[in-house]
Parts: sequence; structure tokens; C-alpha cells
Amino acid sequence: MTEGEDRTAGRQDPTWIAKDPLLGAVVVSAGQIAARVSELGEQITKDFWGRPPLLVGVLKGAFVFLADLARAIELPLEMDFMAVASYGTATKTSGVVRIVKDLDLDLTGRHVIVIEDIVDSGLTLSYLRKSLLARGPESLAICTLLQKTGQQRADFDVEYVGFEIAPDFVVGYGLDVAERYRNLPDLRVYLAGEPE
Ligand code: 5GP
Repeated sequence: MTEGEDRTAGRQDPTWIAKDPLLGAVVVSAGQIAARVSELGEQITKDFWGRPPLLVGVLKGAFVFLADLARAIELPLEMDFMAVASYGTATKTSGVVRIVKDLDLDLTGRHVIVIEDIVDSGLTLSYLRKSLLARGPESLAICTLLQKTGQQRADFDVEYVGFEIAPDFVVGYGLDVAERYRNLPDLRVYLAGEPE
């Protein structure tokens, strides 16, 4: 960059978050997320000592969480990603899930940790869990950044939960509405409610 060039040219308005009328209260701050991610990393490091895990990120919502969590785990590890689409509305899954992007790696004999952004009804994870268990991993655990209170209809345990939150629709830190807001550093209520 040459002297005198405008360094802010092309950048987003830094106050765009404050100016957005659809963004409500902060549900979990960036500082709270960082502290909890570091605790989860420590816990996973202890639990998986001597058996390096394979982190399976569920795209797209979990990518920010996985990027931070992976660096808080002090073990050699591998990661892979998959993407699923559920039949139903944008946010109310019917429980019938289609794998849109499958894993590249073989799960046989691996210690797998599925990394999710949010468990609402739990139906998406329930399907995913069964589908991954059928691939013969040595163990399979689930780690979700958020779990909505009182919403679960699925019959499995989530081993690692970042935060329990009220059933408001939230965005930020990887979670979107129509692909927006994934880059918010914190989690906020989306005031327009759940998109149809
Ligand atoms: P479940 O099958 O657990 O009901 O659905 C979970 C999926 O619904 C999540 O992976 C996410 O894509 C979406 N979802 C549920 N609640 C929220 C929310 O509050 N905000 C956002 N952005 N997505 C949500």
C-alpha cells in the first residue's frame, strides 16, 4: 500500500452491527465465548489424551466454533466437514436430513467428535449421529456451542455443551439468517424471529 492511500476503503462500516435494527440483545458475548471455548478445549484435551480425535464440523454454522475450538485442544487432531440439509422450513427441521456434502475421511476405528453450532429439537443431530455410527467409529461424541433449553425431542446425550440458551432465534459466531451475520463476533437475538 502506498502512502496516502485510504486504508479503510472498501471496508464495512464498523458500526454496521449497532445500526442494524434487526439485531437485538447480546445473548453470549465474544469474551464469554472465548472463555468457554478454552474450557471446552481443556476438557476435550483431558478426555481424549492418548486417543487423538477427528473433529467433524457440520457446515456451515459450526465453522467459526470449530476453528476456535480446534486451536484450544492441545492434541494432534484431524478435521473434516460435512453439510446437511433438512426437509422442512429454514429452521424447523422435520427430522429427515439429506447429506449435501459428505466426509472425505473414513471413520473406521476413529475417535470422532461432531462439532455443531446449535441443538434445537435435536432431530438433525439424531439423524447425523445414526448415520455416522453406522460407519464404524471407535467412539462418537457430540460437542455443540449452543443448546436451546426445553426443546429437545431426541434421545441421545450431548457430551459437550457450550451454553444453554433460551429458545430465541440467535445469529452470529457462525450462525446465520439467509447467509448473513455469520461474522458477528458475539451471539445476538435476531429480532425478526425465525425466518420461514
Ligand atoms: P434441530 O434439528 O436441532 O431442530 O435443528 C438444528 C438446526 O436448526 C441448526 O443446526 C441450525 O441450522 C438451525 N437453528 C436452530 N435454531 C437456530 C437459531 O436460533 N439460529 C440459527 N441461526 N439457526 C438455528
